[in-house]
Formats: sequence, C-alpha cells, structure tokens
Amino acid sequence: MKTITEQKPFEEISEALSGVEKVYVVGCGTCATMCHTGGKSEVLDMKEKLEAAGKKVTGWMVVPTACDELTRDALEENAKDVEEADGILAMTCAFGVQTIILYTNKPVYPSLNTLFVGKEDTPGHFIEVCMQCGNCILAKTAGICPLVRCAKSLLNGPCGGSVDGKCEISPDVPCAWQMIYDRLAALGQLDKLEEIVPIRDWSTSSAGGPRQVTISG
Ligand code: SF4
Ligand code: SF4
Repeated sequence: MKTITEQKPFEEISEALSGVEKVYVVGCGTCATMCHTGGKSEVLDMKEKLEAAGKKVTGWMVVPTACDELTRDALEENAKDVEEADGILAMTCAFGVQTIILYTNKPVYPSLNTLFVGKEDTPGHFIEVCMQCGNCILAKTAGICPLVRCAKSLLNGPCGGSVDGKCEISPDVPCAWQMIYDRLAALGQLDKLEEIVPIRDWSTSSAGGPRQVTISG
C-alpha cells in the first residue's frame, strides 16, 4: 500500500506552528519519501525554511516507516532533541502522525495532506486505486476499481459521457468502464457484464464510523 501525500503550503504550516519556537522534524522513509513530500531532502528543505522563519530546529530524523511501531524506538533514541522541542512537525502521512502521537506527549503538527491510497503509474504521477470500501468487487471488474477510477463510481457499466475511451470529466482521464470492458474482453470474461450489481451497501465503508477488525493469530 502506498499512501499518497502532498505538502501543505508553508503558510499553513507556519500558522499551525505559531507560538511553537522549537521544532523537531520527523520524515518518513517509505511513502512520503516516494512522493517527495517527507524524505531526507524535503526534511532538510523544511529545516531551512523553519530556521529562516525564526524557529529553532532541535533535530530531525527520517524514520524507516512512520506508521510502524519502530517509530517509538526512533523517538526514544532521539529523546533529548525531541524533549527540547515545543512540538513535532510530522512530514508523514496521517497514519504516521497518528502513530507518533502514541509515543510522545509533545503536540504533533502534520505538514502533509494525505490524499489517497494509490500507485505510481508513470514516473512522478500517482493515481488512486482503492478507497478501502470494505467489500471488494475487483473479481467482477477485471481488477480495475470502478469506485475510484470512475468519476461517478458506477457499478453497472459506463455512463453516456465516455468518448474515445476517455472520461467526460477530462480527455486526460481514461474511462474506467472502457478499461474494464477492454480487460474483460481480453480475458474472455465479458459475460460478467451481464450480471446486474445491486445498489451498494456502504455500511462496510468509512461511512459506518471508524472501522475495526480483530485478527486472531
Ligand atoms: S472495490 Fe473497494 S476494496 Fe476493491 S479496490 Fe475498489 S475501493 Fe478498494
Ligand atoms: S465516462 Fe467512464 S469513468 Fe467517466 S463517469 Fe462515465 S463511466 Fe465513469
């Protein structure tokens, strides 16, 4: 899974950090590094910007995977510099922020917007592939998710706006249902399109409140 992030505008970060004079910066060596939003070079850029804005950066680190429990060990190893800070700036996705807050009594400020779960389809271009709906239908759609790839999240084939294989929202966006059709055709599974998908039960999605699962060993 890759969590796709973008940097918040520095003005927004500055506003969140108003009153915070000393900052410790945490980046992430996995998704945020891949997105060029929270890897070593972005952390060092941020350090420079914060210092230019009059903040003291008490230290920084790029943890291997910010949402992983090893973040606790990394914070402990750097406890002196973290303790000196008034707050932590997390250059991680929201999962990283919510992991860091478990292991510090310092306020934690996100510097990234967490956008979606996605894949890099061409270098430097990321596309959403799954909204984690809790009831996967990829078996019926040739492994292409209509919930996120179709602008209308249609489940029973295309709308009338598909033109030359592109979605009506933009000539740069492939029509998900054209992709699904083409792949089902190539697989010899076009009969799957004859099945009417009923109205979706969204209770498995985040609309039903925070989801939880217990996995027994
Ligand atoms: S159907 Fe649901 S679980 Fe499957 S890819 Fe789409 S959003 Fe993700
Ligand atoms: S053109 Fe295709 S992708 Fe766009 S909304 Fe219609 S069916 Fe969905």
